[in-house]
Amino acid sequence: MIEPILKNHDLTHANTLGLPCRAERFAAPADMTALRHVLQQACAQGWRLTLVGGGSNLILPTSLEGLVVQPALSHWWLERQGENVRVHVGAGVEWHPLVMTLAHRGLWGIENLALIPGRCGAAPIQNIGAYGVELSEVLEAVHLLFLDDGRKVTLTPAECAFGYRDSIFKRELAGRVVIIGLTLRLTRQARPRLDYGDLSARVGPRPSALDVAEAVCAIRREKLPDPGQLGNAGSFFKNPVVARAVADRLLARWPDMPHFNVDAERVKLAAGWLIDRCGLKGWRDGHFGVHERQALVLVHLGGGDADELLTFAEGVAQRVHSHFGVTLEREPRKA
Ligand SMILES: Cc1cc2nc3c(=O)[nH]c(=O)nc-3n(C[C@H](O)[C@H](O)[C@H](O)COP(=O)(O)OP(=O)(O)OC[C@H]3O[C@@H](n4cnc5c(N)ncnc54)[C@H](O)[C@@H]3O)c2cc1C
Repeated sequence: MIEPILKNHDLTHANTLGLPCRAERFAAPADMTALRHVLQQACAQGWRLTLVGGGSNLILPTSLEGLVVQPALSHWWLERQGENVRVHVGAGVEWHPLVMTLAHRGLWGIENLALIPGRCGAAPIQNIGAYGVELSEVLEAVHLLFLDDGRKVTLTPAECAFGYRDSIFKRELAGRVVIIGLTLRLTRQARPRLDYGDLSARVGPRPSALDVAEAVCAIRREKLPDPGQLGNAGSFFKNPVVARAVADRLLARWPDMPHFNVDAERVKLAAGWLIDRCGLKGWRDGHFGVHERQALVLVHLGGGDADELLTFAEGVAQRVHSHFGVTLEREPRKA
């Protein structure tokens, strides 16, 4: 069935920041025929195209011209291969319920990524990661369509050029493709990854995948605001990666500064700690604030818009830069 293209569609509740936004046109194609149909229409009419998933990593302007497409391909199935299982999943499948369903079935690999909002189609864009695990570790393939000629292509993880919150979809392929599905490779063999934070203290000696997923959910609920209650996009800034000499200089002055070695030359710093040390935790200005428990999360208090949020975020980044000389990079993407 070809879903209608809706006009003047309200996206205020379709982004976790709760930013007011109206799309000139909106479609949520539920199968490949419908998806190809709307993409062809956008191309033929010369409409600007914006892709959205669950809207949990997006900064939406008050009005979006052209056509907003939210792929709603919601199929998924399992393919058994001995101890391993391939999971084929459409771009429109919600990530967190999928994680919980697979953990419940005793499949290991993505349990540490529980409670990350959003849909599967956006998961490779920033190579979602949490509690010491990144999507790229379990991803076997990304299936996509090129927007210019409708070509269907499958990329291997190596071709996706994954990095920390990074991939080819933010670079060479930005704005050129729509992701239609993923293939994940999970296993029935227990392989808990508990070395991050206090995760190991939250589970018993031989946890199931579901135990780990539930522990991750419990920790996240304690630390992060629920977007259903308080608008936010999770971490607003990436943890900055700096040259070792820069980290050494900062550590000489702030010996308690959290830091993680990336390689011989580079060190990752904790953006939340840097913001907190500028005295900004809980800071509010206008309709936005820095969350009082987690300084990495900027919250929408209601009544604000994208421009005001970007100005507020710039103010936070400037304070960090003048205090530490470190540049913060935004994580959510502007539509
Ligand atoms: C409370 C909270 C906690 C979070 N925690 C984490 C975390 O721990 N780790 C982490 O990595 N992220 C985290 N995030 C960020 C976010 O959940 C992820 O980046 C998620 O993958 C975004 O999915 P989405 O469907 O909401 O994408 P959207 O926000 O809708 O879109 C994100 C980007 O992907 C593009 N896009 C969407 N779908 C497609 C598609 N099918 N094809 C091509 N492009 C597409 C959009 O154009 C946009 O540029 C968190 C967010 C929130 C609100």
